[in-house]
Amino acid sequence: MRYTSTRADLDCGFSQVVASGLAPDGGLYLPTEWPRLSSADLAALASGSYGDTLQHVGALFADDEVSADSWGRIAEKALAGFRHPAIAPLNQLGPKQWLLELYHGPTLSFKDYGLQPLSQLLAELSAHSGKKLFILGATSGDTGSAAIAAFSGKPNTRIVILHPDGRVSPVQRRQMTTIDDEGVQNIALKGSFDDCQRIAKALLAERSAHKDQSVLSVNSINWGRLLFQTAYYVHMGARMGRPFAVSVPSGNFGNALSAIIAAKMGVPIKHLIVATNANDALSRIFSTGETDRGDVRHTLSPAMDIQIPSNLERLLYLLNGCDAARTAQQMETAATSGHLSLPEKWREALPLTLEAMSVDDETILSTIAETYVKTDRIIDPHTAVAVHAAHYAKHARELEIISISTAHPAKFPEAVERALGFAPPVPAPLRDLFEREERFDVVAPTLDAVRTAIG
Ligand SMILES: *Cc1c(COP(=O)(O)O)cnc(C)c1O
Repeated sequence: MRYTSTRADLDCGFSQVVASGLAPDGGLYLPTEWPRLSSADLAALASGSYGDTLQHVGALFADDEVSADSWGRIAEKALAGFRHPAIAPLNQLGPKQWLLELYHGPTLSFKDYGLQPLSQLLAELSAHSGKKLFILGATSGDTGSAAIAAFSGKPNTRIVILHPDGRVSPVQRRQMTTIDDEGVQNIALKGSFDDCQRIAKALLAERSAHKDQSVLSVNSINWGRLLFQTAYYVHMGARMGRPFAVSVPSGNFGNALSAIIAAKMGVPIKHLIVATNANDALSRIFSTGETDRGDVRHTLSPAMDIQIPSNLERLLYLLNGCDAARTAQQMETAATSGHLSLPEKWREALPLTLEAMSVDDETILSTIAETYVKTDRIIDPHTAVAVHAAHYAKHARELEIISISTAHPAKFPEAVERALGFAPPVPAPLRDLFEREERFDVVAPTLDAVRTAIG
């Protein structure tokens, strides 16, 4: 499998792509072709485990750069810290409504499903190269803790995570800042997540010039994360064995893009509902074909408080018929003017139908309450965005809809308590969180200030 960039025609291999962040031209990596899963492949995967699917999907995108033995070790070690034997259990919410629980990893959000396998993959690859690893990430709350859990304690590894000061939940912050590891540095940036992401991207570009270290982005600009997220759509699609729709709570558009990739590979996802909170850049672009930069609003679902979704660039490239020059030009314009528009016939270029919806805080609270009354389940405020959008979808036809549950409710006790009048039970990994000591630096939202803080 060969890889190219969204902004220039490149020819790179899998190992190079997963062990970096941005392509040298500032674009994002994508494979040059999409492997297909036949109905016989899907039927075979239907009776296998989550780990079987993870290995199968990984091997399709890596070709002979990673051996079957390596994939076996990667899947086994990556899933060892999960707290549910099914890894990604699927539950019924109503006659045509389902919920895929993606919060059984070590840090209780779906970020573990991408980052745990990514860290094991890199461990296998660095067994061959021996370089130092510098890991950089911007987080709106969950990527930071998932990256730290996946990479801390690994030899020759340094981790720097930027989060927006005061804009992540106290549980999310403590999951990052209470890890006792000298190799981990947390920076609370006095700005928004979009500021964190912008500065992380600039640092990534600077640091990538160092030859003696691999500089890795743990954001969903990293291809490996998207690839491993595709695995849960393949696993779920194989088990469903019939056409269905998905409703995805979206911020940076990594999770939803993984669903589109799975559909391209032959998974029977026929309709995609892109659900956003009040930060509606994605719902605007998919409703009107264009969007202008808006200010970030602080909501009850902070992991989705994003107005510049980084993976839109990958989608745009695909909708442009893989025209890198055109995509580069549109991204330049977007960087200066804030304006981005999709090509005219974009819907025809997708492997599924798509609709988008923006859900406000009041509706998040009422959805948590209604879901509890009707199904006895406590859902988190991000999941609530998807569940509401699934109920009110206009174009899902007669399809069954699977809402993606991206976080455990105990990560957001304040919001759940407002909706239900009581806080959700605290699972074992969070029990001593408020007794542990925190460590983080508060830094101004400029590249210079962050560079100095990192040293
Ligand atoms: C990261 C995150 C999202 C958004 O996912 P994207 O891939 O950035 O669209 C949604 N919910 C939770 C809980 C998250 O942590």
